[in-house]
Amino acid sequence: MSKRDYYEVLGVTEGASKDEIKKAYRRLSKKYHPDINKEPGADEKFKELTEAYEVLNDDQKRAQYDQFGHQGPQGFGGGSDFGGGFGGFEDIFSTFFGGGGRRDPNAPRQGADLQYTMSMTFEEAVFGKDTTIEIPREETCETCDGSGAKPGTSPETCSHCNGSGQLNVEQNTPFGRIVNRRACNYCQGTGKIIKEKCRTCGGDGTVKKRKKINVKIPQGVDDGQQMRVAGQGEPGMNGGPSGDLYVVFQVRDHEFFERDGDDIYCEMPITFVQAALGDEIEVPTLYGKVKLKIPAGTQTGTRFRLRGKGVKNVRGYGVGDQHILVKTITPTKLTEQQKQMLRDFADVSGNVPDEQHESFFDKVKRAFKSE
Ligand SMILES: [Zn+2]
Ligand SMILES: [Zn+2]
Repeated sequence: MSKRDYYEVLGVTEGASKDEIKKAYRRLSKKYHPDINKEPGADEKFKELTEAYEVLNDDQKRAQYDQFGHQGPQGFGGGSDFGGGFGGFEDIFSTFFGGGGRRDPNAPRQGADLQYTMSMTFEEAVFGKDTTIEIPREETCETCDGSGAKPGTSPETCSHCNGSGQLNVEQNTPFGRIVNRRACNYCQGTGKIIKEKCRTCGGDGTVKKRKKINVKIPQGVDDGQQMRVAGQGEPGMNGGPSGDLYVVFQVRDHEFFERDGDDIYCEMPITFVQAALGDEIEVPTLYGKVKLKIPAGTQTGTRFRLRGKGVKNVRGYGVGDQHILVKTITPTKLTEQQKQMLRDFADVSGNVPDEQHESFFDKVKRAFKSE
């Protein structure tokens, strides 16, 4: 069962202030509190209200909800507040109020949610894009306007269940006679009998169509995250709202950059001459080339950071950094002249690491002695 939009639940606009949200929640929770309101469905309403309020009253949860809807981003940090978080609450209520069970087949019902997996490049995820996707989905049949009955006729109320869609079945159990309810088998629980079916949809009231939907992917999305496109799922029943569409992002790897959250990681090879004497090198970033100063005496494995050259946070919380790991490349193909120069270099320096590294080599020596 898909969830209603939290703003809709509280009857406030998306720009509503915290105060307005609080007031709306106070007013509605009084109306639907299970201790006060004994009408069927009031407990569901109250539960829905509380959940909506818990999210919209929390700045971080609200921002996350605005961006990603009910599912919340998946992958890095903070997404776990959604989905599983309300399980305990729901369970208690189902136990107390025997939740679900009897559902009026004629009541408006929300359409099913749809999921679409979108494959995209590394850069598209970083910078976002406007795109059009085509999804197969059930659309309300235009011939019968969704009733499923041939034009000019209309569905009749099922005489076996009087339109309730359910039949009482008496059963003998060790505890005595129990009356159980089950779906009416004459109308398949719909409460309606269609004598003359619509030819376009065969009585379903819906037809499968390929629908084009414009989707705006925000910058900074990551692999495995998903985005809710409200109201683009399958159409509702009996005048209920449409379900939602969830676009799941599948981001392809980049050959040079790696990403962790909003930070970008890469490796830059440098020669041992550059490492020893220092140099200025050019480093590719998501935003073009950047000059990076390599100080003289840089060790292999040293990390440098370029501030703000990472990914813009999808929820607007700043920009990540780019981390560069330099790796000194040991030359493998040396000419005789180069080899001789290196031998000369070794002779001059006595083949002993410089002072900075004496303590390290001392440790190595000690390690050999202790064996
Ligand atoms: Zn029936
Ligand atoms: Zn039809």
